[in-house]
Amino acid sequence: MIKLRKKNLPTALRQKLKVLQDPIDALMLYQDKVETAADVWNKKDAKAFQAVRGILEEMCPGVHRCVYCEDARGDDIEHFHPKKFYPEMTFVWENYLLACSVCNSNFKRDKFAIVDTTGQRHDLHRVKNAPVIAPPQGAPLLINPRYDNPIEYLQIDIARKFYIYPRLHLTGFDLERAKYTIETFQLNDRPELPRWRETAFRNFIGWIDTYAVHKADNDHKALKIHASALAKYSHLSVWEEIRRVYLSRIPATWEKLKARSERIRAIDRRFNAYPELLDITFIR
Ligand SMILES: [Zn+2]
Repeated sequence: MIKLRKKNLPTALRQKLKVLQDPIDALMLYQDKVETAADVWNKKDAKAFQAVRGILEEMCPGVHRCVYCEDARGDDIEHFHPKKFYPEMTFVWENYLLACSVCNSNFKRDKFAIVDTTGQRHDLHRVKNAPVIAPPQGAPLLINPRYDNPIEYLQIDIARKFYIYPRLHLTGFDLERAKYTIETFQLNDRPELPRWRETAFRNFIGWIDTYAVHKADNDHKALKIHASALAKYSHLSVWEEIRRVYLSRIPATWEKLKARSERIRAIDRRFNAYPELLDITFIR
């Protein structure tokens, strides 16, 4: 997961969303808001939403990759705050992300947890036939790649199995957020994900090696084309991680890491030779 590029919604589209949202907000009862929001969402004009989807695609990492797993195509407009609990966020641009159907429908669904001002955690859920009431005020546990910088919470173990772990220094609420996000999307338990991260690592190393060839040839045109291709790679979080690992290296432990891991040696050799590549980041 990486922090997404910021894109604004054109005024005309924003207005279209407002036209759909306003009647929901005007309802008196929370339960009516929930029911109407679901209804209006299901009946919305999919064509009008193509433009919204198009802008969300531009925000996605790589080429239209899912904002959560970075792996599959981001196909579903996903409400970060589920509309089932937050009907007031149903037609709000800032609440939209593009996720793959696996992350959206199999893993996140309506799962959402918040921590209230007293520090108490609430895992939101609805019991059948129980009164439909609004959730308490609170901060979401799930990391939101639109606003949060996931690399501040998550690290990828590139020396070993490409699992994602909470960053070591985290405590309290931040640690909870990292754990909750990893668990929600099963970022280590979907076996394909660590494998694709490993493949991404090899692709990035290969990219640097081709960069080296173009640079040795002094081929500026090829270098330019090659540089722009990097943004289209999948799992850009792996790029951000190798960059972070190298930039934050501490001499004493770095030597030990290098001795233990061929991958760390691979990064070390290449960034030593081409430190200018450390300027490339996709975090906006
Ligand atoms: Zn996904």
